[in-house]
Amino acid sequence: MAHLDREIEEIAAGERHATREERAHLDACEACARALTLATEIDRVLASQPPPVAPEHFIAATLTRVRRERWRSEQRLDLAFNVIVGLAGLIGLAGLWIVLTAAGVLSMSAGVATVFVDVVNQAFRAFLPVLPMYVLAAAVLFSGLGVWWWAEHGLEQKGSGGPFSVQSSRASAPQMGRR
Ligand SMILES: [Zn+2]
Repeated sequence: MAHLDREIEEIAAGERHATREERAHLDACEACARALTLATEIDRVLASQPPPVAPEHFIAATLTRVRRERWRSEQRLDLAFNVIVGLAGLIGLAGLWIVLTAAGVLSMSAGVATVFVDVVNQAFRAFLPVLPMYVLAAAVLFSGLGVWWWAEHGLEQKGSGGPFSVQSSRASAPQMGRR
């Protein structure tokens, strides 16, 4: 029979009793018998130790840290959202600019104008009929941005307690600022 390296731990911890074969081996094998004695002793010493007491303020400090981490992750989410909205706005503006430029280019090539003022004049005249549409598009874009801004800042002010609203009833609340 092989040595009982793995089984000794369980037997010493009292998780199970040794089988008849294991008992026979322990009687015959000095190394395993010594290992079992040592393991039993270690287990006894460990069991006699008082359970560690959590240091004072441990729970408060842990909760504070959890809230700080949550707050930071929310900040990151906020930043990502802002970046995405900003990119969308940029893309919209770029699209608007491309459309405007294309309109200018088209009218430039259509016209025989050689003088810059003439070109600008014609471009402006070509652009004039569709101006309301662009104004409408810009209005939609900016009102969308406005609604987003309002939702973002309005909500933030409403929940001024923010992620720490639960904590406000605790004594440790003043320690936590928005960092
Ligand atoms: Zn053995």
